[in-house]
Amino acid sequence: MLLLILSLSGACARKKSPPLTPKKNVKDCISQNKMLGERIIYHIVQPGDTLYKISRLYNVQLGELIRLNEIKDPSHIFVGQALKIPRYENPQFIWPVKGRISSYFGKRGRKGFHSGIDIPAPKGTPIKAAADGMVVKSGKSLDGYAKYGKIIIIEHTNGIRTLYAHNRVNFVKAGECVRAGDIIGEVGSSGNASGSHLHFEIRKNGRPLNPLKYLP
Ligand SMILES: [Zn+2]
Repeated sequence: MLLLILSLSGACARKKSPPLTPKKNVKDCISQNKMLGERIIYHIVQPGDTLYKISRLYNVQLGELIRLNEIKDPSHIFVGQALKIPRYENPQFIWPVKGRISSYFGKRGRKGFHSGIDIPAPKGTPIKAAADGMVVKSGKSLDGYAKYGKIIIIEHTNGIRTLYAHNRVNFVKAGECVRAGDIIGEVGSSGNASGSHLHFEIRKNGRPLNPLKYLP
């Protein structure tokens, strides 16, 4: 694949145009200066490419590609066309709760796998958003997360999400913007938890990452 990195700085001025859909996007939640890490690369359209394929390839929303490239008819792109692709830096994380770690990321027991880290803390300890983003889930016993009790999931840039589980109480709702350090809930032991602690995960496109590689 021919991929030219033509511009490395965030200095590219972008025309402001109204969003294609009124649906709120995580980008609306990230302050402009946090987007300075944004850079533009170019994808040269190959035979067989469709905008949808290209959006999947780079993990960029289709609407964003259309907007950024000012495409009038998404079914008409041509071979050799240079399409702008936005790339984002990973979010800058802070610790959601400070403390020792009682259980690390990775294999647990014979066939168990711990997809996050556990930070024990007294019930009611404030939980902070680990980075700027948009709350996408906040609630109890959500599909696939029943054992996690009350959870919050925040979407950040670059396909990255953070998850906060076993909360006593959540202070945020889906669709709300949060800044790193905002208090989003309180530590508890809801769900299947032995003792009061925060179970914290960082996921990229659904795949859990070791939070200790990303926390300061
Ligand atoms: Zn855990």
